[in-house]
Amino acid sequence: MVINGDHCKAVKEVMKAGMDIYLSSPTASFLGLSGHRMRHIEAGEQVQIGSWVAKAFKAEHDIDGSIGFLLHSTATGERLVYLTDSFYSRYVFQGLTHIMLEINYDIQTLNENVAAGMVPVELRNRLLRSHFSLENAVKFLRACDLKRVKGIWVIHSSEGNANWERIKWTIQAATGKPVIMAE
Ligand SMILES: [Zn+2]
Repeated sequence: MVINGDHCKAVKEVMKAGMDIYLSSPTASFLGLSGHRMRHIEAGEQVQIGSWVAKAFKAEHDIDGSIGFLLHSTATGERLVYLTDSFYSRYVFQGLTHIMLEINYDIQTLNENVAAGMVPVELRNRLLRSHFSLENAVKFLRACDLKRVKGIWVIHSSEGNANWERIKWTIQAATGKPVIMAE
């Protein structure tokens, strides 16, 4: 079992600032967190926060406890899927209005970096089984119901292994939706 503390650098400060945080038990025990601001949520569970219902689902990563979230507003009907640190999704989603999806690399850029000796082949092989590629993202998005989608926010893109322009235009062409490349 391997667990790491990725994507939670400010978690203690967020709790101190008076915000509740939701995390899976493997992540919570790895971080050694406690206190009334900490709430557990596991894949398959959902929680209501104000007018939002947040449902956790299993992400496909090489560490335990990674989850994605489907957020649904009972006030506005908006529906957001958030998925990062996953190399594919075993689920497809209906009725989405917003998508935040990791696209960590595109295989062409990654292979060029390996050929140039800039990326070790072991890292390449790990990425293939832990993070979304552009190619897997296109397959996932095509399988989802995009009729109501207003925008796709691309997150967790590598500085070196991703051609951000290629990702933006490929996803826009595949989905017909505006694509925002986030940091
Ligand atoms: Zn990550």
